[in-house]
Amino acid sequence: MSDGARLNDYALSVEDVSIRFGALQAVDGVSLQLPAGARHALIGPNGAGKSTFVGLITGTLRPDSGRVLLGGHDVTRTGFSARVRRGLVRSFQVTSLFSEMSALDSVLLAIAEREGRSARMLRPLGRYGAFVDEAGEILRSVGLIGVAKRPVSDLAYGQQRVVEIALALAARPRVLVLDEPAAGIPAGESTRLFEVLEGLPAEVALLFVEHDMHLVRRFARAVTVLAGGKVLAEGTPAHVAADPAVQDAYLGRRGAGLHA
Ligand code: ADP
Ligand code: MG
Repeated sequence: MSDGARLNDYALSVEDVSIRFGALQAVDGVSLQLPAGARHALIGPNGAGKSTFVGLITGTLRPDSGRVLLGGHDVTRTGFSARVRRGLVRSFQVTSLFSEMSALDSVLLAIAEREGRSARMLRPLGRYGAFVDEAGEILRSVGLIGVAKRPVSDLAYGQQRVVEIALALAARPRVLVLDEPAAGIPAGESTRLFEVLEGLPAEVALLFVEHDMHLVRRFARAVTVLAGGKVLAEGTPAHVAADPAVQDAYLGRRGAGLHA
C-alpha cells in the first residue's frame, strides 16, 4: 500500500453522500462500506436513488457533500478514469459499443485498454498471445468460450450482458459496480448471469443493484435498502426482507416482491 492507504481500508467506502437535483434530494446522507470480497446488493423502489448513488460512486456525478474512498484514497473530486485506475469498474454497455466485434476481440480490446495500449500495438509488443490466452480464460470462466468468435450482436441478449461482465473482468477490478446487470434478461438466463458473478475472484468487492429478491437472497451476503434517497435498512437478505419498513416501502408499488 502506498501514499496514505492502510491495509485495513475498505475497498470502497462511501461516507454520508448527498446530491440534489433542483428541489429533489435524490441521495440524502447515504453511507456504505464494502470490504474486499463483498457481495452487496442495493435495492429499493423505483426512484429511490439507486442509480444516482451508483453515479456518485463511479464518478459520473459529484456529491454536494460527503466523500467516496477507494482503498482508502479520497476520489470524491476525481473523474471516472482516475477511479478506474484505483480499481473501480462498472459494466460497459457492450450492446451499442462493440456489437460488430466478436466477444474475444471485445475482451482483447478491454485487456489492451487495461494495459494502456491500443489494440494495434499489442502485436509488436509480442504479448498478443498472452492476451489472447487471458481473454480465452475470461470467456471460459463466464461460459462464453463456445461463442467467443461470433459477433456480439449475434448473441442472445442475456449472453451480451455476460459479455459486459467479461469486459469488466478484463479490467481486473478491485471494486465492481453493476446497476441492474440482469435487466431485460429472461429469468433463467439471469440466474446464469449471477452464477457468473458468484464465480468472480474472491477478493473482488461487488455492489449490484437488483430488483429480483430471489436473486438478492441467493447471491448477496449483505443488502442496503434505499428509499427516498435514504438508507431504510441494511443487513443480511433475510434480515431486510423481514423488516416491516422495507415491506411497507415495497407494498403498493411493486406488490409483495420481498416475500419471494
Ligand atoms: P432508481 O435508480 O432508484 O430508480 P434514480 O437514482 O434513477 O432512482 O433516481 C432518483 C430520483 O432522482 C428520481 O426521482 C429521478 O427522477 C431523479 N433523477 C435522477 N437523475 C436525475 C437528473 N439527472 N436530474 C434530475 N432528476 C434526476
Ligand atoms: Mg436505476
